Amino acid sequence: MSNQFHATLGFARQKDEADPLSKFRNEFYFPQYNGKNAIYFCGNSLGLQPKLVKGAIEQELTDWQELAVGGYLHAKNPWLYYQHNFNKPLSKILGCLEHEVTVMNTLTVNLHLMMLSFYHPTRERYKILMEAGAFPSDQYAVETQVKFHGLDPGEAIIEISPRQGEKIIREEDIIESIKKNKNSLSLVLIGGINYYSGQFFDLKMITEAAHKAGAIAGFDLAHVAGNVPIQLHDWDADFAVWCSYKYLNGGPGAVGGVYVHERYSKNINQARLAGWWGNDEAARFKMEKGFIAKPDASGWNISTAQVFNMVALKASLELFQQTTIESLSAKSKMLTGYLEFLLQQLSNINFEIITPKEPKRRGAQLSLFFKEKGKEIHQEMAGAGIIVDYREPGAIRVAPAPMYNSFEDVFRFYEILKNFNE
Ligand SMILES: *Cc1c(COP(=O)(O)O)cnc(C)c1O
Repeated sequence: MSNQFHATLGFARQKDEADPLSKFRNEFYFPQYNGKNAIYFCGNSLGLQPKLVKGAIEQELTDWQELAVGGYLHAKNPWLYYQHNFNKPLSKILGCLEHEVTVMNTLTVNLHLMMLSFYHPTRERYKILMEAGAFPSDQYAVETQVKFHGLDPGEAIIEISPRQGEKIIREEDIIESIKKNKNSLSLVLIGGINYYSGQFFDLKMITEAAHKAGAIAGFDLAHVAGNVPIQLHDWDADFAVWCSYKYLNGGPGAVGGVYVHERYSKNINQARLAGWWGNDEAARFKMEKGFIAKPDASGWNISTAQVFNMVALKASLELFQQTTIESLSAKSKMLTGYLEFLLQQLSNINFEIITPKEPKRRGAQLSLFFKEKGKEIHQEMAGAGIIVDYREPGAIRVAPAPMYNSFEDVFRFYEILKNFNE
């Protein structure tokens, strides 16, 4: 791929002109730096605000002001059915059936709820297999679930690490461990893209191996949703959870998402902790005894739709509906490929790209590890109005988001590194 790229501003601008998705950039607000738009590469932490959001929030405020309780049925987007707005766009982004997806709560809460539904340890089968270095919140969730069932985390949790001297986990090691533990494994829970390394795992292969071992396959897709196209239904994943404030641009603390394969949701007796919002809508206000789950993912909804926690995501998804996750991904591969190409031109700085080289094993993000001067470089970036994420002891995560980043943004980032120390 790399010989199609050139390390010049002119080339970057040419790529932007030819980019069919470049129009989306104008649909977002960029943070300001010295009176100009900053260059933003933190869409993997908090996506930018779509300009549509303000009007969408105002609509709900107006409906609340003018209709009050009547808004549940008569708001422009009736609050009683608010979650319905998300099925179609999210099913396209996550590759599942419309009734296999819903929005509710937030990511870690949903992870707990899914584990309550799908992690039922027995004497024989009680282990959870996950990647070492998972996002801390996921680690805490798994650790406390295991303890909740009276088990010892040290015994019940299997963590797969990179091999000695390596930074990336080998998928064959995951599969090998699944096979080895096939009699004791209850749940395989993997972060689809590791937040630190940017490694994208083969969810299909892992699901197959988990099922062959008689275990459930669940995924945390925080860094996948809106970033990489996947096929949750066809790949046969059992459940998945994600947040909406990273690549989905739903705003800080936005409502989380949940996927449940229909073989479970159609069984209204599948174990769960329930509330009235998971009950059949027609019966919801009858206030009768006896919970009857909706026979789809929304049967896991518990409380009243948190409209103001959902409205920004609803607006953001309107942009996703104007394109496809496949088109976004095609641009993303070029954009991140260009970033990688430019980084390979540098000889003045001592650093390493941790993220896998093969485009199909990563998403938008590249994680760079600076053996020295990582902090200084990060400061230099900040001083030039480039916002990237820094993690001790020297990792800079750069995530050009195809929805709003440009080839020129990527070039500007490279320029700072190229001129560093000169
Ligand atoms: C961002 C992220 C979270 C954050 O969880 P919240 O409950 O939304 O705070 C959890 N897990 C992973 C893998 C993440 O990337």
